Amino acid sequence: MRLLNRYYDDWMKTSLQSKVIDRIKEERGYWIACEESVFYVEGGGMASDRGTLNDLTVKALKWENGHIYHLVEEPLEGVVTQQVDVAYRRIKTQIHSAQHLMCGIMNKRYHAPTISFFNDAVEAGAEMGFTAFDHALMDELEQLCNAYICMDLPVEIVYPTKEEALRHVALEKTDHEELRAVKIGDIDYNMCGCVQVPSLRHIQMIKFQRFEKTTRGYRIYFLCGDQLLHTYGKQLEALSSCAKKLAVPLLESAAGVDRLQNELKAAKQEEQNWKNQYVELYAKQMAETHQEPLIVAEIDDLDTKMFTSLCSILVRNYEKSLLCVCHHEARAHVVIAHAPSMTFKANALFQQVGKRFAFKGGGSPFMAQGGGAYEAGILAYLQELAKDLT
Ligand SMILES: [Zn+2]
Repeated sequence: MRLLNRYYDDWMKTSLQSKVIDRIKEERGYWIACEESVFYVEGGGMASDRGTLNDLTVKALKWENGHIYHLVEEPLEGVVTQQVDVAYRRIKTQIHSAQHLMCGIMNKRYHAPTISFFNDAVEAGAEMGFTAFDHALMDELEQLCNAYICMDLPVEIVYPTKEEALRHVALEKTDHEELRAVKIGDIDYNMCGCVQVPSLRHIQMIKFQRFEKTTRGYRIYFLCGDQLLHTYGKQLEALSSCAKKLAVPLLESAAGVDRLQNELKAAKQEEQNWKNQYVELYAKQMAETHQEPLIVAEIDDLDTKMFTSLCSILVRNYEKSLLCVCHHEARAHVVIAHAPSMTFKANALFQQVGKRFAFKGGGSPFMAQGGGAYEAGILAYLQELAKDLT
């Protein structure tokens, strides 16, 4: 059973001395229960606290039989010192209070219901039941939220009777004996068992980042407080390092990337020009060394693309017929083609080669090609085929 823990009413109550009252051994260590605990246990959209019991890391937390159990490596006894990780407590509390603030504004002013809260190590947000949302609305919300933060309204924790609570919210069935609510001025009154900042200035600032459409509404992402500083710091660091590598001022990073892409495009074009010239020279030399009209050969110093252009140059410009294989990085590519002086059917011959070596491909009676995994013996097979053609 989960009880209301009064220590959660003070966000900076993060250490306590308390006596061990129960200890349960399990595979990962020992679950330790104390008379009291300042540790927050996951619930209501807020993650569990991190921290230590007598300098031992608390690996997990749970409520059981009305007590909070802390999982640690060693069996503790007597009075132990509880210490919650203050920086982490601050961040998640700022986020949770900011979620209450923004959702309160969106509920009351825009009649958009809250669907869910979310947050991770770099950003936070809420899914809201808006039917439409855009950048102008996001900017408006940001200004409103920050105006409330400047007003520094108190974030009150109240323990209402059922009747009092019902005046503000529709209560769902609950097993709690006691009710706890959060009240922020006239914009938020909600049942909540989480830790809250004492007043809005502790959120420091909200920056709305982006939004995306969901099936139920919109997910709206924001940064606030310490998380805003951390995330922007990291993003700035990443951007600075890119700008440095691009040798441009930070704000001109995009222009730097454009320049790099254009240079790459020009370099690729130049590479292609050199390749074309190389293949033309290659074809000329090959035509000179193979005086016969039918060339049967294995090429292993060109890539497949260069090889196929070599083949078309040989057929077109030098009137050669070909039964050639290219061996490039464990792949084989076969081209069978003929000049007008010969009459064999290239596609029919390729079919035989394809069947023998499990190649994919095809073509016309004048030129057919395709390939697959390289294996020794392809050239010898092409040489056998050539014997019947001459
Ligand atoms: Zn809450």
